[in-house]
Amino acid sequence: MTSTVNIPQDLLPEDGRFGSGPSKIRADQVAALERGGTKLLGTSHRQTPIKQLVASIREGLGEFFRLPEGYEIALGNGGASAFWDMACACLISRRAAFGTYGSFSAKFAKSAQSAPFLEDPVIYESEPGTWRLPEFTEDVDAYAWAHNETSTGVAAPVQRIAGSLEQDALVLVDGTSAAGALPVDVSQTDAYYFSPQKAFGSDGGLWIAVLSPRAIERAQAVEHSAKLEGARRWVPPFLSLSAALDNARKDQTLNTPAVATLIMLENQVRWLNDNGGMDWATARCAKSASLLYSWAERSEYAKPFVADVNARSHAVVTIDVNESVSAKQVIAVLRDNGIVDTAGYRKLGRNQLRIGVFPSVEPSDVAALTRCIDYVVEHL
Ligand SMILES: *Cc1c(COP(=O)(O)O)cnc(C)c1O
Repeated sequence: MTSTVNIPQDLLPEDGRFGSGPSKIRADQVAALERGGTKLLGTSHRQTPIKQLVASIREGLGEFFRLPEGYEIALGNGGASAFWDMACACLISRRAAFGTYGSFSAKFAKSAQSAPFLEDPVIYESEPGTWRLPEFTEDVDAYAWAHNETSTGVAAPVQRIAGSLEQDALVLVDGTSAAGALPVDVSQTDAYYFSPQKAFGSDGGLWIAVLSPRAIERAQAVEHSAKLEGARRWVPPFLSLSAALDNARKDQTLNTPAVATLIMLENQVRWLNDNGGMDWATARCAKSASLLYSWAERSEYAKPFVADVNARSHAVVTIDVNESVSAKQVIAVLRDNGIVDTAGYRKLGRNQLRIGVFPSVEPSDVAALTRCIDYVVEHL
């Protein structure tokens, strides 16, 4: 079906990118690529200019996350998906417990399930649209869940599981679509890891992790034991967290990174800190999200997918629409009008819109989006 609805120009947002990742990249980040030009692009990541870029990212993120004593920022290639395998290889000693409530939280659990040198994980599952933290479990050495379940628009709490410190278990939290958009106290975690193509509005391909001293020690011990005669575990060099950290400490990565991604990330971290850091960024996302949730609650054809108000994400907003309206059609018409990536998560399969309201997105554009959706539904 071809679109017949033309949204009037004065209703349109200034920027039509509302993806949940990849997400909007600000014009100044792209301009930073130009400014970096031949001084940065196409030059060695082992030399000072790129190392300074990485140093600025690590310092800036340390400031943004108010890095607790002894915590360190590591980074490497492969995105959050690579970090899951890295955590299986280097952070889970024997067995982990997972909270799963959607596609992303379940993927890490599946990685652990298929690692031949780990015991089967203990999984605490709940329905899409809700969250569930792993419960205290005997005989586990790590607890894992996602801060923001990007597939459903659910935000879960980030707090240590009672009793986990006493049993020396680590807390590994996937902050991929939460970091930079939702408030977090990283001292409640041992690894808070993410990719930069969500709230940090950069390109994909990197993982970044805020690591506690306990996580760093754990990786060293696990990787050491894997080298012993007769060990069942293989830590591929690419998945060595200790090697990644050694490189990060020298403001480098184990292997060649995409320099353009680093430039855009550095620009975004500086922009966030210059505007007021985590407090500013999270308030801005909360404002954008509340514009959408309150619009949906007033709407006759739309409603927030997540029933529990406190679990509604301020980073990725999911809105169900009535059967009388085809979300697929609305999304297609929006796209024809330059408003892109508003589709729900494919595998969730609902009649739903999903809107990324990361810090780069202007709240005024979110307000404009609600008016555009109303216009499209009225004119279909
Ligand atoms: C996007 C996303 C990932 C995957 O990130 P990649 O960079 O593609 O590996 C993992 N977890 C969550 C919560 C995400 O939103």
